[in-house]
Amino acid sequence: MERASSGIGTPIQPKGYNGNVSWDLIGHEWAVKLLKHHIADRRTRHAYLFVGPESVGKRTLASRFAQALSCEREGKPGELCGECRACRLIPKRIFPDLDILAPDPTLQVDDVRALQRRLALAPYEGPWKIALLENFHRASISAANAMLKTLEEPPDRVVLLLTATTQELLLPTVVSRCEVISLRGVSRVTISLALQNRSVEIEKAEMLADLSDGRPGRALRWEAEPDHLEQRLVALDNLSEALSLDISGRFALAERIIGRGKLPVQRRRVRSTLEAWLSLWRDLLYHGYQADVQPRNPDRLPAFKRAVERVVPADRYRMMRALSATLAAVDGNANLRLAVEALMLKLPAVRKPGTNSSAAQRPAG
Ligand SMILES: [Zn+2]
Repeated sequence: MERASSGIGTPIQPKGYNGNVSWDLIGHEWAVKLLKHHIADRRTRHAYLFVGPESVGKRTLASRFAQALSCEREGKPGELCGECRACRLIPKRIFPDLDILAPDPTLQVDDVRALQRRLALAPYEGPWKIALLENFHRASISAANAMLKTLEEPPDRVVLLLTATTQELLLPTVVSRCEVISLRGVSRVTISLALQNRSVEIEKAEMLADLSDGRPGRALRWEAEPDHLEQRLVALDNLSEALSLDISGRFALAERIIGRGKLPVQRRRVRSTLEAWLSLWRDLLYHGYQADVQPRNPDRLPAFKRAVERVVPADRYRMMRALSATLAAVDGNANLRLAVEALMLKLPAVRKPGTNSSAAQRPAG
């Protein structure tokens, strides 16, 4: 195998590398190229950490990487044939050499210990034994500490793939032992074109790209399940409603947003509501600064702007920060109800159209 140059400048393309970025991923081309090079140059690390917002493509990228590491086709390292056992079974998450831990709701130390015992065995059929640890920010402290040992001294032929929404929620010792792949939002043009390539009509593709907030996974999910679009409208209605409610009304609304079901279901519901709120506040803030940014919610921005016209810019900014912090808490292990109720207290009060009395209170920072 020819090695690519690791010097400054453009790396020499290794033999067999055709430069084609085709892991069927929306966006993140630089990351695909980098990971392909790692395989082609035999520089695969023992541990990778994929970081980025929910639905941006972390898990898909990690899965494609696992596929490329295990693909049986000879002569094209880093590429996917799409036909071998690894290429067929990894996307279905049933390949024997791919071990997946998806915390629900948290990853416990026993899960890590059981994984470590499995990783001590040689791979069954592929060249690598791969462990995908999803949402590692939800690992308990003891689970994260137990994992450190494997990150420090991984068994031979083991590759660990971790995903997390942000590095800050992880132990620094975990982050420092991984090659960090930070994924940012994907451009709306890229998402729209990718949807059109998947036979979505142009108008719908443009709308989904607008609403996706740079998250391809969200656009694809909304395309497959139109209910999600309806849920977004409900979430935005909830926000307008919350602003004009008093405290007890807001707490009742919090109850409704959290809803019934198991914790992961409630967490998903809260997250999608708060993300819709955050994207509308962000639109408002950008609009306030007359930034040349395409709004994510062109359908709702004008009415929302009128509703909060008395909320001063500093409070708008504070609200956006409060929403981001609540989302991070919801993604971590925070008490869901407390997090949502605390947010409700911070929402600024606005008058209901046609009334003179101001409800609730000023934002509390
Ligand atoms: Zn293959």
